Amino acid sequence: MLRRLQDFDVKSKRALVRVDFNVPLDKKTGEITDDTRIKASLPTINYLLSQNARVILMSHLGRPDGKVVESLRMGKVAARLGELLGKEVLVAPDCVGQEVESLALGLKDGQILMLENLRFHPEEEKNDPEFARNLSKLGEIYVNDAFATAHRAHASTEGVAHFLPSCAGFLMQKEFDYLSKALENPAKPFLAITGGAKVSDKLKLLFNLLSRVDILLIGGGMAYTFLKARGFSIGSSLCEDELLEKAKEILDQATKSGVELLLPLDLVVARDLNNPADSLIVSIEEIPPDYGGVDIGPKTRELFKERIKNAKTIVWNGPVGVFEVPPFDEGSREIALALTQSGALTIVGGGDTAAAVEKFGLAEKISHVSTGGGASLEFLEGRPLPGIEVLKN
Ligand code: AMP
Repeated sequence: MLRRLQDFDVKSKRALVRVDFNVPLDKKTGEITDDTRIKASLPTINYLLSQNARVILMSHLGRPDGKVVESLRMGKVAARLGELLGKEVLVAPDCVGQEVESLALGLKDGQILMLENLRFHPEEEKNDPEFARNLSKLGEIYVNDAFATAHRAHASTEGVAHFLPSCAGFLMQKEFDYLSKALENPAKPFLAITGGAKVSDKLKLLFNLLSRVDILLIGGGMAYTFLKARGFSIGSSLCEDELLEKAKEILDQATKSGVELLLPLDLVVARDLNNPADSLIVSIEEIPPDYGGVDIGPKTRELFKERIKNAKTIVWNGPVGVFEVPPFDEGSREIALALTQSGALTIVGGGDTAAAVEKFGLAEKISHVSTGGGASLEFLEGRPLPGIEVLKN
């Protein structure tokens, strides 16, 4: 169990809150192009304000690599947050030091201060204890709401928790509760769908899922290495030849564990991603040598949807086709739609898959779309996340 924000008395206290406001910025104008991450922490911020806490927010933005980068200052993020809250958000000139301490100590009940980009200091990513201690001087309680960075042991995500009473914000709690429920206590049948480009990125995930799920559906670029391991000719499809033995091991492991592992029966194949008119639908026995897989085919979609319909818990990580390039997004769209119609507890694990369900306009109908790409993958791999471990009782 995580220590929860609502179990602490935060009235009139200085709450030092790690949020993930690492929002995408327009390359030319520097404007925020998507404020989902800011909105995701509003429940925590609003709760603290309702308790008359003094809110000190800290985040990183982009990759300044330990130096001040003007375009990565937090000012525009603070302004956007201010608009969303309808309230002034003060901006600090740095995230540590005398001046910032005075600002933090001078806050009144219900005021908000946004610290400057944590990663302007190299000590942040090194989890430097002195830097963590300096951050901790700003608050009386530490709240971590930045699930998307919980897989990193940085000063603001791990180190600071050693110097202050610490707890999880509402976003962190929600992420933890959904992902743990799926892994530890899933309603059965428990089905997982994995896709994405490479098997190598998902090996640990596959092994962990095999020990937990009843059904594993494999699509996307990673499926072709498995099809080749089963002896099919896969044309010019993506393949990691060095992983053919591992793929066989996974197929054997599924049989031993009694997991129904399903690979595509047919595919959409193309010679050139930029020329969809030249694509074909073929069974896996007849992939032409100069064509490569770009999506799951109609028979596979039906098979996968049939299994999805009967599942009670579903975890999806990785698109089943090149969803960025229509019409090769159709397989992923049908899977997303089937999830929303299944009645199951549905969890979409961050990054590209979250972008896909957003694009299809179906995110609202998924039980939980994780805000963490790397963090949700590592969680589903069964790895302890440093930013979460430190919040456990
Ligand atoms: P990942 O980050 O590993 O989840 O991979 C996501 C990427 O996998 C997306 O950019 C997809 O375009 C890509 N992908 C999915 N299916 C395929 C495929 N059949 N061939 C090539 N790339 C694919």
